[in-house]
Amino acid sequence: MSEHTITVAGVAVDTRHWIGGERVASAQTFPDVSPIDGSTIGEISRGTGMEAAAAVAAAKAAFPAWAATSRAERARILHAIADGVEKRIEELSIVETTDNGALLRSHRRGVMPRVAHNFRFFADWLLKLEHEDFETRGHTNHVSWDPAGPSVLITPWNAPLMLATWKVAPALAAGNTVILKPAEWTPLTASLLADIAAEAGLPAGVLNVVQGYGSEIGDALTSHPDVRRISFTGSVPTAKRIAESAAANLTPLSLELGGKSPLLVFADADLDLAVDLAVEQYDNAGQVCLAATRFLVEESVAEEFTRRFVEKAGQLTQGDPRGEATDIGPNIHPLQLEKIDGFVQRAVAAGARAVIGGHRKDGQYYAPTLLTAVAQDSEIVQEEIFGPVLTLQTFATEDEAVRLANDTRFGLAATLATGDPERAERVTAQLVAGTVWTNCFFVRDLQAPFGGSRHSGVGREGGTWSFDFYCDVKNTVTSPNGWNNHG
Ligand code: NAD
Repeated sequence: MSEHTITVAGVAVDTRHWIGGERVASAQTFPDVSPIDGSTIGEISRGTGMEAAAAVAAAKAAFPAWAATSRAERARILHAIADGVEKRIEELSIVETTDNGALLRSHRRGVMPRVAHNFRFFADWLLKLEHEDFETRGHTNHVSWDPAGPSVLITPWNAPLMLATWKVAPALAAGNTVILKPAEWTPLTASLLADIAAEAGLPAGVLNVVQGYGSEIGDALTSHPDVRRISFTGSVPTAKRIAESAAANLTPLSLELGGKSPLLVFADADLDLAVDLAVEQYDNAGQVCLAATRFLVEESVAEEFTRRFVEKAGQLTQGDPRGEATDIGPNIHPLQLEKIDGFVQRAVAAGARAVIGGHRKDGQYYAPTLLTAVAQDSEIVQEEIFGPVLTLQTFATEDEAVRLANDTRFGLAATLATGDPERAERVTAQLVAGTVWTNCFFVRDLQAPFGGSRHSGVGREGGTWSFDFYCDVKNTVTSPNGWNNHG
């Protein structure tokens, strides 16, 4: 083991970048801290413009050979990566939980199997991707999916490996080479992914992983002229910065951003189901972009809904995310906790009432909170909090419900609880959202498009939409008059 290897819950993790098939250390490091107990897990190589340039150069050098690799071979290697993930589910799960504080049981049973599935899904989709042919006045139009080039993938901390591989898998499948930059609060599983990809036979330079603060390494990656795609998941302010930086080279961008999604509960809903959906919004300590954080409840059932919600939320167990019985773990970082509490205290000062919670707990935990008496134009209703903080407002009519639901600058998702299919269809048609769930939440087929409207994002990924983004789609028109006569 090198001096750059740390042991995290018994798992060896290299703290250096992975560039051109080699581990590369930076002169400086940054501390990686566990939200479970605030302890420092290790010192991580802190990349700057130099490492960014080296990673882009490695991705550029590896691109022609990877782009020319047959689809079948690319798919084979992606499946081998999925095999490697499946073999290491236990290790990846405990490392991710130590790094970001999300539940160990969710990582084991849901998240890491999905990470493997990301690779299998895009490998299989690549093999199904049709090269279409059209005909115009006897001329054949042949449409092909050409690899675009080195792709910079920048990811957040709330679901690190799941969100990273949601981008890495289609980018590699498309024949692109990758520079992945994980969030500085959760760099560890990206390093393990580099090991797994190398063991699976992915050629050197096809996947590169660089670590560091966005402010120090980010611009050098996103403004680099050799980068042909940027896919970013994170916050709106960072997205705007990246869009400015990418503008210099007109680099195509895919942006998956924040949300302030509503849960609309109509009086005709199965209230127990509605309450189950509502309590689910505390998952991952509220650090879920898609979370339906604004409850909009029809007046006539609001009291009963609230009573049942409080009872159900009171049964949640908050504590160490490694515990099998734990429902809510810690929040990611002291800074995030301060941000969450700031939102809540300002709301309460403005007249909001905490039905439950409304305060910090020991360590890096925030009490699951529900606020009522909140104004539609208030900060607590309009801004993404990214913590276990929900608001409840009531409505009298369907029109009012739709108006309130759409009245933020976001448009990521919406969830409806209703027993009336016609109402569901009517309301869904009026909602501005990338995903609408009716009487369910969070379920999604990877073939379907994923993304947000308005400030929740630009573009869609998933299934063919991912290949639309990661490929340079080409139309080749051939004359019907043979090869020598002008036609
Ligand atoms: P963030 O924007 O602070 O950081 C995201 C990533 O961007 C990190 O890797 C960070 O280092 C990097 N970064 C920061 N500045 C940069 C710069 N100038 N150039 C390049 N990269 C830079 O977001 P976060 O706090 O890590 O994540 C939370 C946000 O992510 C929330 O808004 C959440 O809603 C959003 N999110 C969206 C989705 C989605 O799919 N729509 C999924 C998960 C999270």
